[in-house]
Amino acid sequence: MGDLLGKVALVTGASRGIGRAIAIGLAREGCDVVCNYLARDEEAAVTAREIKELGREVMLAKADVSIREEVDRMVSDALDRFGRIDILVNNAGVFMRGGVLDDVAILDALYAVNVKGVVNCTAAVVPSMIANRYGRIVNVTSIAGLGTSARNTTYYAMTKAAIVVLTKRLALELGEYGITVNAVAPGVIATDMILGRPAKEAEENIRWAESRTVLRRIGRPEEVADVVVFLASDRASFITGQVITVDGGRMDFLSHSA
Ligand code: NAP
Repeated sequence: MGDLLGKVALVTGASRGIGRAIAIGLAREGCDVVCNYLARDEEAAVTAREIKELGREVMLAKADVSIREEVDRMVSDALDRFGRIDILVNNAGVFMRGGVLDDVAILDALYAVNVKGVVNCTAAVVPSMIANRYGRIVNVTSIAGLGTSARNTTYYAMTKAAIVVLTKRLALELGEYGITVNAVAPGVIATDMILGRPAKEAEENIRWAESRTVLRRIGRPEEVADVVVFLASDRASFITGQVITVDGGRMDFLSHSA
C-alpha cells in the first residue's frame, strides 16, 4: 500500500472492465488518476467515485483515443490539472470477430482503437515524460497477439500483435530517458468484452477457454490490474520491453498445439 504515493496516472478505457480495475488498483497504491473513456458516463462516474473513496484525486476524461485531436486535448487538460503524468496505461480496446474472409473494414475499425489509439496516447504523453526523465508505460495487449488458436479472431489478433512489437520498440526508443515500457497479455477475463456477447455465445466462449486453461477458469480484472500496478511501480524499475502473460496457463498456442 502506498507504493505510488503522489504519482499521476492516465488510464485509457477506465470506465469499466480491466481499465476500471487498473485505475482503482493504482489509486489504492496512492496515485491520482486521469480516467479516460469513450461514451459511458455513468460507468466512468462509478470508477471516479471509488477512486475518491480511496482518498485520491480523479479526473474524468471523455475522449476517443483513435482521434489524435481529442487525445491531445485530454493530455493537455491533464497536464494543466496535475502538472505531470508519471504513468500511462494504454488499456482502451475493442473486440470484433473477423478474419481475411470478412470485411476488411473490421480490421480498420479494430486498428483505429487498438493500435492507433495506443500510438496517439503515447505520442501525446511522452514529451512530458522525457522532460521529467521519468515514465512508466504499460500497454494491454492480449494472448491473441501471441498466437492462440481462438477461431475468427485474426484481425483482432493482428492488432494485439502490433502492440507486442510496439512495446519493444518504444522500450528501445525511450529507455535513455528513464521511461520503461512493458505490456500485459491477458487471457479471457470476465468483462463486458466477454460477458456482453449474446448469452449462448458468451457461455460457449467461456467453456472453450476454461477447457484450454491450466487453472480451468477465466480471470478477473483485478488479476490483470495487479500485474499492471507492479509494472507501473518502482519495484519494476529494471524491467522494460517485456510482455507478461496473465492467462491462467493457456495451452492452445498455435506453435504448440491446436
Ligand atoms: P471492455 O469491458 O469492453 O471495456 C472497454 C473500455 O475501453 C471501456 O472503458 C470503453 O469506454 C473504452 N473504450 C473503447 N473504445 C474506446 C475509444 N475509442 N476511446 C476511449 N476509450 C474507449 O474491455 P476489457 O475487457 O476491459 O478490455 C480492456 C483491454 O483488455 C482491451 O485492450 C482488450 O483488448 C484487452 N483484453 C481483454 C480481454 C478480455 O478477455 N476481457 C482479454 C485480452 C485482452 P466506454 O465504457 O465509454 O465504452
